[in-house]
Amino acid sequence: MSTTRAAQEIESDATTKTPELLGRGAREGGALFRGWFDELTATSDSGGQAAYVFVMGSLVELLRSFELPVVFPEINSLQTAVRRVSDGYLSRAEDDGFSPDVCGYVKADYALQLQGGEHPMGRIPPPSIAVFTNACNTYLKWAEIWERMYDIPIVAIDVPGTRTPYVRFTPGDFTRDRRYVEGQLRELIDTLSEVTGRPFDIDRLREVLRRTNEMGRAWRRLLELNRARPAAYDAMLHGTIYLGVANALRGTEAGARYFADLVEEMEYKTAHGIGALADGDEAHRLIFLGVPCYPIFRRFYELFSEWGGVFVGSTYMWFASGGLDVDFEYDLSRPVESLAEGLLLGVQRAVDAMLFHDEPLVAAIDRYEADGVVYHPIKSCRTVSTGLADSRKRVLDQRDVLCLYIESDMMDKRVVSEAQLKNRIDAFFEGLASRKLRMAETA
Ligand code: SF4
Repeated sequence: MSTTRAAQEIESDATTKTPELLGRGAREGGALFRGWFDELTATSDSGGQAAYVFVMGSLVELLRSFELPVVFPEINSLQTAVRRVSDGYLSRAEDDGFSPDVCGYVKADYALQLQGGEHPMGRIPPPSIAVFTNACNTYLKWAEIWERMYDIPIVAIDVPGTRTPYVRFTPGDFTRDRRYVEGQLRELIDTLSEVTGRPFDIDRLREVLRRTNEMGRAWRRLLELNRARPAAYDAMLHGTIYLGVANALRGTEAGARYFADLVEEMEYKTAHGIGALADGDEAHRLIFLGVPCYPIFRRFYELFSEWGGVFVGSTYMWFASGGLDVDFEYDLSRPVESLAEGLLLGVQRAVDAMLFHDEPLVAAIDRYEADGVVYHPIKSCRTVSTGLADSRKRVLDQRDVLCLYIESDMMDKRVVSEAQLKNRIDAFFEGLASRKLRMAETA
C-alpha cells in the first residue's frame, strides 16, 4: 500500500471511527462494572448464593461453572475509598477493636458485613462459600471472619511458591506442584457440588476457560501496546479500570468482548500517536509500584499527569490481574489439570511481582523506555510494601533512572497528606526535567 493511500485510510478511519472508539474502554468499563454491582444487588435481594474470592488466584472459572456469582471483597473495599466513604467503614471496624495497622480492605469489608452488605454501589450478598489461596497471608484470617459470621465453608488452596523468583521450576518440580494443586481443586469441586447442589459440568468449565484465554491474550497485548510513544493509556489510572473488569468479568463473554474492543481502541490510539493524557503531551515515562492512593485517586493521578508524567507500566497490572499477564493458555482438552497449572503459574507470578520485582522491573524499564520509577508503599498493606526500599536500591544499581519513594495508603485518608505528596512529586519532576536538560546538553 502506498504511503499516501495509507494516510488517506487513516484519515478517513479517524473521521468515521474516532468519536465512538476513543474513550470507549473507560466508558464501557464503568458501565460493565456498575452492571456487575447491580447483579450482586439482585442476588442479595433474592437471597441467592455467592462465592467470596480474592484477585490473586480467584478460581472464578470453577465457580462460574457452578453458576455461582462471585464477590471480590478487595474490590468492594477499594470502591469505598474511591467514592470517599471508606473512613466510616474503617472507624466502624476500629470501634470493634481492629488495629489501625490492619489491612484497610479487611476492615472496610468487616464493617460492610455488619451493615448487611450496604455499599455505595449496591448491596453485596453474604457468602455461601469462600475460596482463597496463600498469595497473601491476610486472606486466611479474613476468610475466618466470614466463617465465624456466617458459618460457611472456607477453602484454602495451598499454592507452592517459586523456589527462585522468576525462574521456572525444573520439570520434576513443576509436575509435582501441579498435581498437588490439582488434588486440592478436585476436593474443591466436591465441596462446590455440595454447597450448590449442582453436579460438576466440565463442558461449562471449558467454555469459561476459553473466555479467560481470550481475555488473557488481549491483556498481554494491552501491556505490550503501551511500549508506544506516547503511551496509549495510563497504567495506574486506566489500568485500575481494566483490572476491575478483568477480575469481575473474568471468563465471561462480555469480558472477552470488552478486552477485544479495548485492544482495538489502544491499537488505534497507538497507530495515530494519541497518548494517554487528555491535556498536554507525554513528557516523562514512569513505572508505578504498589497499589494506588484511592482516597484521593483522581488527584493522585493529576499530581503526575500535570507534569506530563504517564505511567506506562505498573506492577499492579501484573499482580492484580489474576495471572492474565502470564504467557499461558488453558488447555481445553484437560480443563481441571490445566486450571491447576494456570493457578500455580498465576499465583507464583503475582507473589513474585509483589515481593521480588527488581529483575522484571529492570526489564520493564528497558522495554518501556522509562525515565523513572515511583514506589508507593502503603500503611495498611504490608504485603505489597515490604522490601520496596531494597528494590529501589537494586534498581538504581542497575539502571540510570530516577526513583521516587512516597508513602500513603490505599484506604485510610488519615495518613494521606496531599500537600506532602505534592512537594515530593514536584521535586521529582523538577529533577527529571533538569536531568533531561543536562543529558541533552551533553549530547
Ligand atoms: S494485605 Fe494487601 S495483598 Fe493482602 S489482602 Fe490486604 S491489601 Fe490485599
